Amino acid sequence: MTQDGEPLVGVAPEALQQGTTVAANIKRQLQGRAPLTFDYFDKGRAAIIARNAGVAYLFNKISVRGFLAWFLWLGIHLYYLPGLSNRWLVLVSWIRDYLTKYRALLHIFGLKNSNLSNKLKDKKI
Ligand SMILES: Cc1cc2nc3c(=O)[nH]c(=O)nc-3n(C[C@H](O)[C@H](O)[C@H](O)COP(=O)(O)OP(=O)(O)OC[C@H]3O[C@@H](n4cnc5c(N)ncnc54)[C@H](O)[C@@H]3O)c2cc1C
Repeated sequence: MTQDGEPLVGVAPEALQQGTTVAANIKRQLQGRAPLTFDYFDKGRAAIIARNAGVAYLFNKISVRGFLAWFLWLGIHLYYLPGLSNRWLVLVSWIRDYLTKYRALLHIFGLKNSNLSNKLKDKKI
């Protein structure tokens, strides 16, 4: 999907706004009105890059980095989750992972002494 000749990047904020537009357009069409065109409002970008570290660029104006950007990322994601119970579940699992330093990705790097990595080393796979 493009806007003003530029491709949209395909992130969740776009999907959220597209969903709202689609719902509004279904409603409009049921009322016999013409659908609205989709107009994406870019609120910015945020990403976590490490424990307690993130980067964010808000409204194409404000750059934030470090702990504040990390915290902002968490807050934004919690805010946009549907339902209070989902938010609580995610928050509790984040707190658990933060305190225990659990990282699912370590399973990928944990191949070092596994059968799979030995087979890879011996080129049996
Ligand atoms: C690995 C990964 C990391 C990402 N990280 C980020 C990120 O950090 N930040 C960010 O903003 N975006 C991120 N994205 C992009 C973001 O996930 C997508 O832009 C967003 O989920 C798109 O939302 P959607 O509702 O259009 O589609 P989806 O979230 O894919 O939802 C579509 C739903 O429809 C269901 N479905 C499909 N076909 C049928 C069918 N025939 N019948 C019934 N149900 C069906 C699917 O099961 C799915 O639940 C990431 C994507 C990936 C893959």
